[in-house]
Amino acid sequence: MIPIPNLFIENISVLVTMDSEDTELRDQHILIEDQAIKAIGSDLVPPLGARVIDGRGKIALPGFVNTHHHLWQTYCRDLPRTVNAVDLFDWLVVKYGIWQEIDPELVYAGSLVGLGLLLKTGCTLSSDNHVAFPRDKSGEIIDAGIQAAKDLGIRFHPARGAVSQAGPFVPEVLVQTDDEVLADYERLVNTYHDPSPFSMVRIALGPTYLPTTTKNLMLETIRYARAKGLYCHSHLAEGGELEEAWTLKHYGLRPFDVMESLEWAGPDVWFAHCIYLNDDEIRRMGISGTGMAHCPVCNSRLSRRVAPILQMMEAGVKVGFGVDGSEGYGDMIAELQTANVLHRFMQGRIPLARTMLRIASKGGAEVLGWDSLGSLEPGKGADVVLIDTNQLDYGGITHDPVASIVLFGANHIVDTTICNGEVVVENGRLTRVDEDEIVARANQLSREYLARASRRTGIDYSQAPPTS
Ligand code: ZN
Repeated sequence: MIPIPNLFIENISVLVTMDSEDTELRDQHILIEDQAIKAIGSDLVPPLGARVIDGRGKIALPGFVNTHHHLWQTYCRDLPRTVNAVDLFDWLVVKYGIWQEIDPELVYAGSLVGLGLLLKTGCTLSSDNHVAFPRDKSGEIIDAGIQAAKDLGIRFHPARGAVSQAGPFVPEVLVQTDDEVLADYERLVNTYHDPSPFSMVRIALGPTYLPTTTKNLMLETIRYARAKGLYCHSHLAEGGELEEAWTLKHYGLRPFDVMESLEWAGPDVWFAHCIYLNDDEIRRMGISGTGMAHCPVCNSRLSRRVAPILQMMEAGVKVGFGVDGSEGYGDMIAELQTANVLHRFMQGRIPLARTMLRIASKGGAEVLGWDSLGSLEPGKGADVVLIDTNQLDYGGITHDPVASIVLFGANHIVDTTICNGEVVVENGRLTRVDEDEIVARANQLSREYLARASRRTGIDYSQAPPTS
């Protein structure tokens, strides 16, 4: 392995530490040694042999953390049958019809696109919830996403998804037995899970959704996770009345009550969405220290409501952002900008611009349980993002450039992303891979993939649905 030189970021205009006091510093240097931040100060000098990065006119932030995604969905983003979908369940019916075509090659190429875009928008740690494991394909599909993360140089914390009973929209070919899923947890943990502070891969367990998971698997999952020190993830309270009707029928309880009854509450659990919780459920979720992935863009497109995250944070719920699959933008800065305007509109409350940045960085690290990340302080992991204010977006902005990232920044591609002490985005481009090749391969596979699905189902997915 080629040793990575120490990094010295000099003359950073504004350094947002996100330490316990939310300190912001002007005209600072950061020294990075190996995987960690060694020192921050205004009087440091670059050590011999260090690579020097110019921080003038730039804002330094802790790397953003994406807490919810479905990377393989990169291939269906512009499907004419769903681009104008307004309902989550209408959308799921179409999507599940084609997801059974995926294979490791497609997941690898899709993950390069999805994770690459996250790196380019400032994200240094991402989760994922891979759900679709077609019976007739390799069971090691999820490994392809892990390989893509390794190739790009982004930290990865995938939650191994599971569908263990057919739901109203899930085809049989995507259903695995509880034993198959449990065996794959064991395989993935033994192969990839690294709990060390500056790990590049940790494994979480993520049965996808109560209506498509057996009760036994929910219980076995959380018990196995706690025995191994793993985090657990699932979707919760995204489906509104339909989801509530299902849990009331099958468990006699509302969705969060079911999760509590199945031991799925605590600081080692995080749920995506949590839109339809009542006040008492939010209170109990906060007391238990459970986390959530807030996905405002996807929720706006498909659920038409957003979770009350300000109330949830006051109750003690840990909150991070999730770009969430093919109905989001896949872009961390778009996510936090959207959240800012949406919460002013929907809740009539005024979130601070800096609160959005904090959720995106430190909040996400707390949700996923990475104490070593989420702030720029000596000893923390060297995950640093530089946003360049020397561009038209920021013209005339001289008083509060930090808030301006949330309020005005139009170019979401960051100048530099450093992950684990390595520059993985430089001048807005990925450093380890050829972006043009990734795009060409992704386009080719996307066409082949949809053509396969069309041949099997007889539905021409390249056309918009007929209007009645
Ligand atoms: Zn999701």
